[in-house]
Amino acid sequence: MKHNRAPLVPDIAAIRRSYAITSGDTTRARERVESVERMAAQAKKLVDRAAKRPKKPRQPVITPEIVSAPPSGFYASPEWRELRYQALKHYGARCHCCGRSPRTHPGTVIHVDHIKPRAIHPRLALTFSNLQILCEACNLGKSYQDSTDWRRPPAIPQPAIEAAREARRTLPADTPFETVATAMFLAMLDALRRQ
Ligand SMILES: [Zn+2]
Repeated sequence: MKHNRAPLVPDIAAIRRSYAITSGDTTRARERVESVERMAAQAKKLVDRAAKRPKKPRQPVITPEIVSAPPSGFYASPEWRELRYQALKHYGARCHCCGRSPRTHPGTVIHVDHIKPRAIHPRLALTFSNLQILCEACNLGKSYQDSTDWRRPPAIPQPAIEAAREARRTLPADTPFETVATAMFLAMLDALRRQ
């Protein structure tokens, strides 16, 4: 099949001929021809440059099992990057689920995960308390509907533990268990309130 494509470089001779016939004004005709010639030269330069440009090699297909996708969109935003950094600074680069870290298990890739998935809870995308640290294996194993909070409960401050121990010491040895437990709990709460 023949393609009748317009030539990229115009036929200068044809333009010159048509002007010689239709225009009595030779100066204007010459100017038009020269301007078309300049355009033609520019077009040729562009065509040559494009031909010389090295072709980009095709990207190999990488499955998510091997390498996680490069950050794009939300995950490339400065707001997310800053919050992600804050989460790593606060929790450390250690998987809340399996405990692996790049230090103890070289090659571990750490993700900052949305506990309540972003797809279902977009409003919690930039909420610090909705973030936990997961290794890539745990995160890829997590289904998009899972919202398990794998973070450890916050540590009880030492003064509160001391207050609870002190409450137990002050009670007679035969005090019923429930009374001891309640006294320890109240002493702990009191210490926490005073902090
Ligand atoms: Zn893990």
